[in-house]
Amino acid sequence: MKIKDKEFELYIDNTKIINKVKALAEQINEDYKDKNPLFIAILNGSFMFAGDLMKYVDVDSQITFIKVSSYVATQSTGNIKEAIGLQENIFQRDIIIIEDIVDSGKTLTHITERFKELGPKSVEIATLLHKPEVNKTDLSLKYVGFDIPNKFVIGYGLDYDGYGRNEQCIYQLSEEKTITKNMLNLVLFGPPGAGKGTQSEKIIDKYKLTHIATGDLFRKNLSEGTALGKLAQGYMDEGHLVPDQVVIDMVDQKIRETADTNGFIFDGFPRTVAQAEALDELLTKNGTAISGMIALEVSEEELVNRILERGKTSGRADDQNIEKIQTRVKIYNNETLPVASFYKAQNKFSSINGIGGIDDIFENISAAIDALK
Ligand code: AMP
Repeated sequence: MKIKDKEFELYIDNTKIINKVKALAEQINEDYKDKNPLFIAILNGSFMFAGDLMKYVDVDSQITFIKVSSYVATQSTGNIKEAIGLQENIFQRDIIIIEDIVDSGKTLTHITERFKELGPKSVEIATLLHKPEVNKTDLSLKYVGFDIPNKFVIGYGLDYDGYGRNEQCIYQLSEEKTITKNMLNLVLFGPPGAGKGTQSEKIIDKYKLTHIATGDLFRKNLSEGTALGKLAQGYMDEGHLVPDQVVIDMVDQKIRETADTNGFIFDGFPRTVAQAEALDELLTKNGTAISGMIALEVSEEELVNRILERGKTSGRADDQNIEKIQTRVKIYNNETLPVASFYKAQNKFSSINGIGGIDDIFENISAAIDALK
């Protein structure tokens, strides 16, 4: 889609937006059950979000609209916009500010502080979009539709030079779809016992990557007795896979917790095509992508022997029983092997012979990684 001189492409479709808006409204309905909030929508950008949100808000409430002035320079905060047009008395009211997008967060911080001087009972913010990479304020955002990377978006109220606000979906600038961060993100792939753990340590050491090993994360949760650990335990003990969404949410959180890194090495993840698709989405959201998959190839017979050997010292229940090991290898063949095809189709697949000396194998892995850079 072309607007003025720029080409835009679909980023978030209307169904996704509306589902999210409904979910936010439900949350607000729950939180403000016996209250009488006053919504203050900030024009122009939030008009569509505010309009749709209010269709699903069913608590007694009022809505009003304000604008922000063009930039007003202040000494303490630099360029800031002021809220204009508020007629209502907000003393002792529960206020929910409606915004379309929070990027630097500076103006909204300033506006929120001004509102607080007027003695409301509470002030919360509902924003459809948020750019966490850009927002360095400690503004509390209670209701957030989508966290997005720092890209230019239009539609559903947001504009490019005043145009595009009437679009039902959200669009991004076409050239911004390309990778924005120069990270090395690897998927280390191979059946249980292929030597992923040993090799990942060496890769991390050499390339200074952040390790995300889902098996280790589950075992950590298990030993700490967390709810996630308890949920995973039954599956792990039997050598079965933990459900996709549980794993994906855990990885999502881990990626978000990691502020600054040269890249990630995913170890034991993705183990299904659904997980691989979700990982692509998570990384795109963070402005990056998988650089390549390194697959360690080891024969099935060698694997079973290696795992049984490891079981003597690892203490892992799933390493000590031949049937459980066979279940894991079978699940690997059925569910995990298709993940290799997923990356082959993207031209991101390198196969490494996983039998031999640890250092020799590592040398081959390093050569494959260097070819990606
Ligand atoms: P690992 O240490 O990678 O062999 O993982 C041990 C166990 O944790 C697996 O047998 C699964 O039960 C669970 N697990 C680890 N990673 C995943 C994943 N990506 N998807 C589903 N289950 C997983």
